[in-house]
Amino acid sequence: MGLYMNDRSASRPRQRVRYSFRNILTGSDLSRRRLAVMTAEAARTGPTVWLTACAHGDEVGGVVIIQEIFRQLKRKPLLCGEVRAFPLMNPLGFEVGSRHITMGGEDLNRSFPGNQHGSLAGRIAATIFQEILQTGPALVLDLHNDWRNSIPYTVIDPRRKSANREAYARTRRFARCTGLLLVEESSKSPESLVSHRTLTGSLLLRDIPALTLELGEAYVVNETNVAYGVQVIWNLLSELSMVATQEKPFEFEMHRDFRRRFLSYSDGTLSSTSGIIRFLVKPGDVIDADQPVAKIYNAFGKLLETVVSAQRAVVLGHSDSSVAFPGVPVVALGLL
Ligand SMILES: [Zn+2]
Repeated sequence: MGLYMNDRSASRPRQRVRYSFRNILTGSDLSRRRLAVMTAEAARTGPTVWLTACAHGDEVGGVVIIQEIFRQLKRKPLLCGEVRAFPLMNPLGFEVGSRHITMGGEDLNRSFPGNQHGSLAGRIAATIFQEILQTGPALVLDLHNDWRNSIPYTVIDPRRKSANREAYARTRRFARCTGLLLVEESSKSPESLVSHRTLTGSLLLRDIPALTLELGEAYVVNETNVAYGVQVIWNLLSELSMVATQEKPFEFEMHRDFRRRFLSYSDGTLSSTSGIIRFLVKPGDVIDADQPVAKIYNAFGKLLETVVSAQRAVVLGHSDSSVAFPGVPVVALGLL
């Protein structure tokens, strides 16, 4: 009711909300598999923002964040522009709690920009990517989840030489408006080798500002992290003047040395031994160079190794498992 309440005198509703589908495949039992699409469109033209979630089927938090944004838009309609969403990009993985597209085991977020005549992940990626491109968005936000013990942060793909400077600069400006810790992938990191195959990395190469939000744990909906995600998105919609200006934009509580700074991501704090990990730090902690972050013990309780951070950093998260073996990442850090 609230949606059209204020619009009785107007010839067009102030905001139109639509839910629809895109076909991805027909199963061997002739069942149709589809991607859900959500659209909220203001009568006044303005920027288009895309929200995408659940490219990794086990990362369920973003689906609920998008639902909550649309719920909020019913109470506070868009002033201009459009919010569009693919809330569940990998329904096949979602249903079995898998990161991957079940058939074939592909990672959808390593399959962009996709190919309609390629693998199944490539076809799904192409459907998503083409639709996003056609709308010429001002910003695309891809929602992900991280380790169970992790704090929310935003990630910018490494800048590639072929990428448009302006799109990258705008992405950095949007990142600062999220109110989260800012992590910039290094162009030298192993992840950067695949970043052109992620949704956000592929969009940046097409001159479209795009950010990844890592919002806490996977597998279960964590309501605290959902609330953070909703506030981050509202910050950005407000920045684009699509919703009312906020008196006090959301900001995640963090040490002042790390605020509005682009940190480099590192999960290179590795174990060199096998055993059981006891963590000495928790997500959000600020640690100094040479500070121990975990100790590793053998089956008899003998200390085998103390894992230390090489640099001053903020702890983004620690491993979901206490099983150590040589080369296993123990903590993820944001380095100054
Ligand atoms: Zn993910």
